[in-house]
Amino acid sequence: MATCPRCKGHLTDSHKCPRRPVIVAAEITAAGLAGGFVGLLLVAIFDQAGQITDTDYSISVIAGALIAIGMHRALRGT
Ligand SMILES: [Zn+2]
Repeated sequence: MATCPRCKGHLTDSHKCPRRPVIVAAEITAAGLAGGFVGLLLVAIFDQAGQITDTDYSISVIAGALIAIGMHRALRGT
């Protein structure tokens, strides 16, 4: 059986190279940062009067990050 030139695994029709944990971790971190930034941005847009507290900002950043990481995992299927 042929072997994959990249991961040395068996090259079947459905072969997919295993993704390196470092890359996966980097992607999740990037997704979390992006989601947190989007969450911050949304709160800033809706909080024109400046009534939202720092705690609310933190919650929205964390929520945005978690949603982004969840979406990332769903899309990647990891
Ligand atoms: Zn491979």
